[in-house]
Amino acid sequence: NKMIKKIIITGGAGFIGSHVVREFVNKYPEYQIINIDALTYAGNLENLRDVEDRPNYTFVKADIRDAQLVSRIFEAFKPDGVIHLAAESHVDRSIADPLAFVMTNVIGTVNLLNAAKETWKDNSEGKRFHHVSTDEVYGTLGEAGLFTEETPYDPHSPYSASKASSDHFVRAYHDTYDLPVVITNCSNNYGPNHFPEKLIPLCIHNILHNRPLPIYGDGRFTRDWLFVIDHARAIDLVFHRGNTGESYNIGGFNEWKNIDLVKELCRQMDDKLGRPAGTSEKLITFVKDRPGRDLRYAIDATKINRELGYKPSVTFEEGLSRTIDWYLNNQEWLDHVTSGDYQRYYEKQYSKS
Ligand code: NAD
Repeated sequence: NKMIKKIIITGGAGFIGSHVVREFVNKYPEYQIINIDALTYAGNLENLRDVEDRPNYTFVKADIRDAQLVSRIFEAFKPDGVIHLAAESHVDRSIADPLAFVMTNVIGTVNLLNAAKETWKDNSEGKRFHHVSTDEVYGTLGEAGLFTEETPYDPHSPYSASKASSDHFVRAYHDTYDLPVVITNCSNNYGPNHFPEKLIPLCIHNILHNRPLPIYGDGRFTRDWLFVIDHARAIDLVFHRGNTGESYNIGGFNEWKNIDLVKELCRQMDDKLGRPAGTSEKLITFVKDRPGRDLRYAIDATKINRELGYKPSVTFEEGLSRTIDWYLNNQEWLDHVTSGDYQRYYEKQYSKS
């Protein structure tokens, strides 16, 4: 759609957002990409070093909880599209502090919806609000079955409850005000730039430092994993070609029990580090399960495949291998993140202007 020129991407300094920003900045030199991010603990502009000087990229430090600020930004840029990824994203943190998740994920989303509605009130032709969400809104599965776009919402954690609520608001703005929205619900992502509080980067980091690999319960929890760059490709596809008012599940038909995933990771790490097979597996430690944990998530990604021809570009083994290689080659990034040094990058880089 050649009409779309200016796109606001929220949460572009985060894990998935940075890959979406990179994909769009590289692929669409004719677009102006405006990255809006509050730079919380999860936001890291070092993720975007390679694109920060591009003429079609602008960074704005802003908090989406601030309704007036959000509407001033929309007035200034008059975006044609929004891809909304900014969120509090860590389930364990949501158990400790649910209200922070309501503020950013629910109220922040409604602030953006209001600003888009105001900006496009005279003409919403060719405009698009793309809300990026999770498969966790669907609740949990038993041993069998898959989540489809028709699966009723049944969130269990404060995180998934806040994301479910934001999805409902996005749909309500479509049904009530005709806002041209589209929603994607994706399975667990992994890949470069993943904050080391999450399972895969945490295990890579701990194997490198010979620390225990914590696995909840008995490791039978099952997740569907997608390489983050394949998520960014799917977002590009749905943003441009998805049907207005609809939602699309994104997944790779790639289910792993946590214990099997960590064992595969250990196998690849031993291999890459030249250690005897079985070395890293000895670090596996079972820890007490957290409350309300869902047994199994698995996505039926038939619709996006059938309607938009989407397929992931890498197998899990390849994606995992590329991810490990990235962490091994970017230990400075990992050290900055674990020491908190990455938070000074913004001051160094942007205090000049
Ligand atoms: P992340 O935590 O790595 O990044 C979130 C980004 O949002 C950070 O840069 C942070 O600074 C920014 N942010 C947080 N609060 C903000 C606020 N109030 N105002 C402005 N910016 C703020 O998260 P992620 O893993 O990249 O997830 C991005 C989105 O994708 C989220 O909406 C999440 O729900 C969704 N999602 C994530 C996964 C996954 O596996 N990580 C899977 C499916 C969907």
